[in-house]
Amino acid sequence: MNEFALIQRFFAEAAHATSDPSVILGIGDDCALIAPPQGQQLAISTDTLVAGRHFPLDTDAYSIGWKAVAVNLSDLAAMGARPHSILLALSLPSVDQAFLREFSRGLFAICQQYGVRLIGGDTTRSSVLSITITVLGWLPIGQAITRHAAQAGDVIMVTGTLGDAAYALQHPHSPLQHRLDQPTPRVELGQALRGVASAMLDISDGLVQDLGHIAKASGLDAQLDVECVPLHLILQQLSVSERLAHALAGGDDYELCFTVPASRVDAVTAEAVRQQIKVTTIGVMLPRQAAQTQVQLRLHQQSFELQQTGFQHFD
Ligand code: ADP
Ligand code: MG
Repeated sequence: MNEFALIQRFFAEAAHATSDPSVILGIGDDCALIAPPQGQQLAISTDTLVAGRHFPLDTDAYSIGWKAVAVNLSDLAAMGARPHSILLALSLPSVDQAFLREFSRGLFAICQQYGVRLIGGDTTRSSVLSITITVLGWLPIGQAITRHAAQAGDVIMVTGTLGDAAYALQHPHSPLQHRLDQPTPRVELGQALRGVASAMLDISDGLVQDLGHIAKASGLDAQLDVECVPLHLILQQLSVSERLAHALAGGDDYELCFTVPASRVDAVTAEAVRQQIKVTTIGVMLPRQAAQTQVQLRLHQQSFELQQTGFQHFD
């Protein structure tokens, strides 16, 4: 099967199945054409998943398709953007039709759930399976939620429970497997936090490391009360050191971490209840105390040290 037949069979037809007037031209030409909505800015991001590095080699094809889109939608969510479309750059060791059928089924399932169109991409052969997705979304002008505007005194909050995916990675076939394979991007909550959260990101490399990015960008320290970090019941059964390793330094959570003025916490909680998403206060932003930004960990008011703080991309 050649490249064009492959695109046609697995990616083009389903992409054209929905009609969206903002997509002037989708798959098939040299570029896609999009009509930007008035008063909106384009939010754009890209993420690569490499087999054996970003997901276990035995991950099912449906989940790979799902996750490749989910991690990208999570980046849009973290800015408060509304998803619009994706581009898919696929590097394949072979044309395995059974794999491609399931992969595209997973990819289109999550696209449909979030009203996202596949508008183009690239397909090539390579020795390793690798999926790069570029995601496009819209933001009302000037309303992006960045990492750099947290204020001292702002409360730190997170969605969901942390460490589930890291646990699943170490315990194959556990009840938390879906949290690793098919993460849920917090797309709707992210948008609801525009004008409320002062800073936000999605947790992909571990809470402590990622919270450090907000603190550094904002010129502040972060104080984290580790006993407040929300844990799934399964993680609550682990030893303290194990559960904290997963929840504070494990990767692949794709939950949102954001800062809010204390006066807005009730509004955030009400919106989260409406969306049936758990949100938890886990700490507070503080003025910077030393030359370098610090994420200060406390366990029951005592300061506390962690061995490893997060996923390192070049280890
Ligand atoms: P070009 O030679 O201009 O790079 P290609 O032959 O790579 O074009 O792709 C032909 C069309 O198919 C383009 O519109 C491209 O965006 C689209 N396409 C290629 N690969 C994929 C893919 N994996 N998913 C979706 N669209 C794709
Ligand atoms: Mg090409």
